[in-house]
Formats: sequence, structure tokens, C-alpha cells
Amino acid sequence: MECKSLSVAIIGGGIGGITAALSLLRAGADVHVYERAKILGEVGAGIQVSPNASCVLHRLGLAEALAGMGVKPLAFHQRRWDDGRTLLRTPLAQAMEAAFGFPHYQMHRADVLNALVRALPAERLHLGHRFTALVDHGDHVEATFENGMHLSVDALVGADGIHSAVRHVVFGPEKPHFTGCVAYRGLVPADRLSHLDLEVTCQVWMGPGKHFVHYFVQNRRLVNFVAAIEQETWTRESWTDRGEVADALAAHDGWHSQVRGILAAVDETFTWALFDRRPMAHWSVGTVTLLGDACHAMLPFMAQGAAQAIEDGATLAMCLSQTAAPDVPEALRRYEALRLPRASRVQGLSEGNKTRFHLPDGPAQQARDAEMARGTTDWSLKAVAWLYGHDAGRPESSPTNN
Ligand SMILES: Cc1cc2nc3c(=O)[nH]c(=O)nc-3n(C[C@H](O)[C@H](O)[C@H](O)COP(=O)(O)OP(=O)(O)OC[C@H]3O[C@@H](n4cnc5c(N)ncnc54)[C@H](O)[C@@H]3O)c2cc1C
Repeated sequence: MECKSLSVAIIGGGIGGITAALSLLRAGADVHVYERAKILGEVGAGIQVSPNASCVLHRLGLAEALAGMGVKPLAFHQRRWDDGRTLLRTPLAQAMEAAFGFPHYQMHRADVLNALVRALPAERLHLGHRFTALVDHGDHVEATFENGMHLSVDALVGADGIHSAVRHVVFGPEKPHFTGCVAYRGLVPADRLSHLDLEVTCQVWMGPGKHFVHYFVQNRRLVNFVAAIEQETWTRESWTDRGEVADALAAHDGWHSQVRGILAAVDETFTWALFDRRPMAHWSVGTVTLLGDACHAMLPFMAQGAAQAIEDGATLAMCLSQTAAPDVPEALRRYEALRLPRASRVQGLSEGNKTRFHLPDGPAQQARDAEMARGTTDWSLKAVAWLYGHDAGRPESSPTNN
């Protein structure tokens, strides 16, 4: 059954919100996205689109757009911080597609968001609409926006990010949690790094108290890096604070020349604190639910925040496509039951990687490295099968949904 009669408002036009809108449109819903920004945009940074996410995006007709700008890495290469020794190398590209049916891409965030927005009919995206309040009437929900607009819909979805106003209204105030990590990010023109002869892999350098990730994006024109560094306190939460390249270099004193070479080549670097949220007991109340960072903000140490948001949208559309308007609360409970345990598991693993990736040199680090050498942890195909082999549009039929 299609949900033609269902009207759905999505608050937030990020990767999660737009994916949900496209998924719901395909399922026949009358869906509109309300975004506070006047112009949609993404920060200059990379994002990994793993097969569990590309599976959804391909089904939405974005295969060509992803292939046009995305880079298919040959491997995940985890390395030791000082001598560059390989700790674990997992083949991606063909091996990944053969195992899970869909590619793994490394992309510029703006390319992903632009591809999604281009696929959404323009009249369904309402910019300059900051959500402020809602009243759930049981059989419909009314929402209010700062610009004075009101609406009434069958279901409302809060896809409004880690500081979600919808979450605040429905579940009460709760501050995001500072994870004790800050990050530097930057994009370096690849031709500036030709002397480093970088392989087309995602490289994760693991060292005491920090790790460094880099990979190509935009048809290999740019190299994206993120340096995650443990730090006890932080006051600001902006993604766009400039960082000093000299500080980033000083933090990587003694690190391998490849890491330092990438840092030294960047024109500008941005620094920000990493916040997350504890797993919630519920995402849905009545005709209102949450999606993406609004309900499962996590450390980026599994590279899964957006992928899980993308999965949310596909499962939400599946649940609502099998329901009629009076049954929306039940459909949203089903969506939550299918999604919450899985997203919470990824949140927990992401948090665990903070400790695991940052072990000081010593017995625990040696035990970790020995385990990695057996080739069945981290991003090894065996370890990620439950994650990457999942089809969020048909979650109950996913063989690896455990
Ligand atoms: C360093 C780093 C690296 C990462 N790498 C990866 C990766 O490789 N792979 C991956 O899958 N994930 C990654 N992530 C996580 C990913 O970026 C996020 O999980 C993802 O962007 C969340 O998408 P979202 O749509 O839920 O929220 P957001 O992208 O935050 O979008 C929320 C939208 O809601 C809008 N909004 C907010 N409040 C309101 C309001 N009141 N009214 C209307 N609109 C509103 C905002 O303007 C915004 O457009 C990374 C994160 C970080 C920090």
C-alpha cells in the first residue's frame, strides 16, 4: 500500500532530511522539507559513503551522481603513527561491491548534498523556515516557524541535527556531550601532494591520544583530512573556526612524514570540538519522530553518522508506506523499533574507537595491534558485514541485521 494520503513535514534540509524526503516521495507521501538556512550549503569537508548508504542513494536514482564525483578507495589502510607500519589493510573497491552489492565512496560533503537536492522537486524544499514549536493533536500535528508560518500535517520528522529543536520540544532540554576530542579538518589540492605518492585509500593513522584520517575526494582533485585529538575542555561548537596549521603540526610532532606533509601543505585548517549524544530510549512520540543527528549524534570514528541518517530515511519511508493516516503513531513506533538499536550500536562502537584508536604505546596497544594483524577487526569485511550489508529499505530481510 502506498501512503498517498499522508502529509509529512521534515524539519531540516541536511543529508538526513533530504534523503528522507526523497524516500518518502518515492513511497507516495506528500512531503515537504523546512530548512532554517536561506541558502543550503555544506562545509568543505569529506564524507565516506559506505555501501549501506550508497544502497539507499542508488535506489533513489543517485548512482550516476555519486559515481561522477565520488572516489572509490582501493582499501582502508590503518597504520601506526610514527613508522607508518601497516596495522590492517582491508580491500574495498571491487571486494566491497562483490561482498555487499554497492560501492564505497569518498566524497566532498557538498557533492552529496547537491546530488540529493537536485533530485528533490524545488517546490518541496522551503528555505528560511526555522521551526520553533509544535502541538501534537494525536491524529495530526501543527508546527510553527519563526517567520510566522504554520502548518498541519499527518506526521512531522525532526531531522534538524545535533541541536535539534524538535527533540528539545518533544523530549525536553539536554545538552550534547563533549567527547573530549577536538578535530582539525582541511582540504589540500592533490597536485600539491604528488611528492608523497599517496595511494587511493582511506588511511587511518593511529597514535597516542589522537588519530589522523585522509582520503581523496572530488575525482581525486582534493585530499581531505581530519585530525582527531584528545583534549579535556572546549567552549565553542562551531564547525567553522579557523585553526592554526602550526598548532596542528605541533600536535603531530614526531608523526610520520606523510601525515606532517599533508598538514604542512594545507592553506587553511578549521578546528572544532566533537560532541555526541547518549542513545535515547525513544525517538517517537505520537505523530512526531526524529532522524539522523537529532536522535543519534555520534563520534565520526566509524564514519557512519550520515550513513545512519540515510538509513533512517529509507526505513521511515518503508514504515510509513505501509500505513494509513490514523496509524501514523504505530508506524513511527515500528520505525523506532527497527532503527534505534542499530543506530545505538553504531554510536557505542564509534565511542569505543576513541579509546581504541588512541591507545598510548604499551601492552594494550600491542594487544590491539596483534588483534588487528589477524585481519578480522575494524573495517575488515568480516567485521563490517552486519553494518555494510544492511538494506535499510528492507531491514527485516537483511541477512546481516543482527
Ligand atoms: C569530522 C566528521 C567527519 C564525519 N565523517 C562522516 C563520514 O565519513 N561518514 C558519515 O556517514 N558521517 C560522517 N560524519 C557525520 C555526519 O556529518 C553527520 O552525522 C550528518 O551530517 C548528520 O546529518 P543530519 O541530516 O542528521 O544533520 P545535519 O547535517 O546537521 O542537518 C541538520 C539540518 O537541520 C537544519 N536545522 C537545524 N535547526 C533547524 C530548525 N530549528 N528549523 C529548520 N531547520 C533546522 C540545519 O540548518 C541543517 O541543515 C562526520 C562528522 C564529523 C564531525
